[in-house]
Amino acid sequence: MRILVTGGAGFIGSEFVRGLLTRRTDRVTVLDALTYAGNLANLAPVANLPAFDFIQADIRDAETVEQVMPGHDAVVHFAAESHVDRSIAGATPFVTTNVLGTQVLLDAARRHGVGRFVHVSTDEVYGSIDSGAWSEDQPLDPSSPYSASKAGSDLLALACHRTHRMDVVVTRCSNNYGPYQYREKLIPLFVTRLLTGEQVPLYGDGGNVREWLHVADHCRGIELALDRGRPGEIYHIGGGTELTNRELVGRLLAACGRDWSAVRHVEDRKGHDRRYALSVEKIRNELGYAPQVSFDEGLAATVAWYRDNPDWWRPRGGTPEKAVVGA
Ligand code: NAD
Repeated sequence: MRILVTGGAGFIGSEFVRGLLTRRTDRVTVLDALTYAGNLANLAPVANLPAFDFIQADIRDAETVEQVMPGHDAVVHFAAESHVDRSIAGATPFVTTNVLGTQVLLDAARRHGVGRFVHVSTDEVYGSIDSGAWSEDQPLDPSSPYSASKAGSDLLALACHRTHRMDVVVTRCSNNYGPYQYREKLIPLFVTRLLTGEQVPLYGDGGNVREWLHVADHCRGIELALDRGRPGEIYHIGGGTELTNRELVGRLLAACGRDWSAVRHVEDRKGHDRRYALSVEKIRNELGYAPQVSFDEGLAATVAWYRDNPDWWRPRGGTPEKAVVGA
């Protein structure tokens, strides 16, 4: 199969591409604009493989997308503006990339008869849930400009299936962690700051609950959806480890050899969702998905990766990690 992977130089997309090219015989084209979040170093382990191609392009650039699309059997669409705090500071790039960019890809994929389009989305489209867990038919109720733009793109992808019978599958996952994650997100930000003796900022009372998913498990779920998901369906991909941010920070402090004096409480994020929780019954029953990485082992390996790879995360100009905080 020849697969077009958008956003393949980012955190999750690069894990997906590295995994695919080391385990399968597919050919992969990565299309990525290399924004602040994209990094070619994430693809270094596969960059010289004959089955790998890279094109630096913006998914909003319809002309280039039109030239790149022919000959691909599937699209796996990761490219997005992905950070909630940045969307609160300025929503426009979120709307243009996440909504308009997705439509550009859907249009080109349909025109060129691409077999399958996997749209990678988030649990944040549902808003917040006090108890229990969402199933895939839960109405969307996003809180932030980021999650609203992802909800818009999900609906456009699903509409493309309903209107044009295009073979679209949508996946929605919980919070990812693992190596190669840009350090504006909670775990890499906290780990790198704690390792360098700095303080870390904790939002509000620290009681917000997130469900953590190792990036390798997420990519396993996406692969199942790509290979065997039913057209027009939504599949949740969850990790099963629910923690308050306070509990998570306690574990990060222990893993980095620091104590609570390293933590500074900061004003809560505007519109901060209290809790996310996904039911994974559907993907488990239909596609045999089960997360394989235990949180304790995954977190220890992630901390070790940041400790061992300072050249990857040391700021490459600017100090974006000062401006934005959280998961
Ligand atoms: P990321 O920010 O690390 O990477 C995004 C990638 O997309 C980067 O390589 C960037 O250069 C590229 N990109 C951004 N705008 C682009 C554009 N206009 N044209 C082409 N490329 C562009 O994001 P991530 O954490 O790897 O997330 C990947 C996908 O998974 C996103 O769609 C995100 O919404 C979704 N998701 C992420 C998480 C998480 O915990 N990280 C959770 C749920 C869903």
